[in-house]
Amino acid sequence: MFIVGVTGGIGSGKTTVSRYLEDKGLVVLDADRISGDVTAEGGSAVAEVAEVFGPASVGLDGAMNRKYISDIVFHDRMKLDLLSSIVHKHVFAEMEKRIEEETAKNTKCLILDVPIPVQRFVDMSDQVWVVRCDPDTRIARLIDRGLSPGEAQRRIAMQLSDAEYADLADFVIDNSGSIEQTYSQVEELIKSQLVERGIRV
Ligand code: ATP
Repeated sequence: MFIVGVTGGIGSGKTTVSRYLEDKGLVVLDADRISGDVTAEGGSAVAEVAEVFGPASVGLDGAMNRKYISDIVFHDRMKLDLLSSIVHKHVFAEMEKRIEEETAKNTKCLILDVPIPVQRFVDMSDQVWVVRCDPDTRIARLIDRGLSPGEAQRRIAMQLSDAEYADLADFVIDNSGSIEQTYSQVEELIKSQLVERGIRV
């Protein structure tokens, strides 16, 4: 099975790219969705989050209390790293389980959609496609999505820099232009990297 890791910082357009690949019929494992699963009621990460961040970090519904946790971690780098390490551990365990399931089904190609490219993700991927976007456009898109300018800048600053993302990339998709321009770059990669390997898309 050929595994493509798609990554990029907040607001770069990573989800836009991975949804397009999903619409083309490729199987996508979305770390954000899996992270939602492991922190939902009954999710594998909830008990550990409660142990580390206290009982208020879990709501009455038994799921991680996102609002409470966001207010803590987005103002404290060490706590963000701590939360990330707990959630990532559970997300990757779940991803590995799902990769095994897809392997058993003889799936030829799998897309991993991961916002924070920890080494384990890079190791799991045969190829990494990084989605990038000009800083001003990226901030404008995040503001359109409801973040304040300050919050958008703070969240971007807490992630890897563009140069660090670019270092991981086998290919970079520039999403600074129109959606159509982005889709056509993805089509080029589908042809040159997937179809060329005999993967039917
Ligand atoms: P996050 O990590 O926050 O989920 P992301 O990297 O997955 O962000 P998207 O959700 O794909 O980014 O895009 C961010 C926002 O910008 C979305 O509201 C999306 O609809 C919009 N957007 C993405 N690409 C374009 C584009 N080329 N032109 C206009 N709007 C875009």
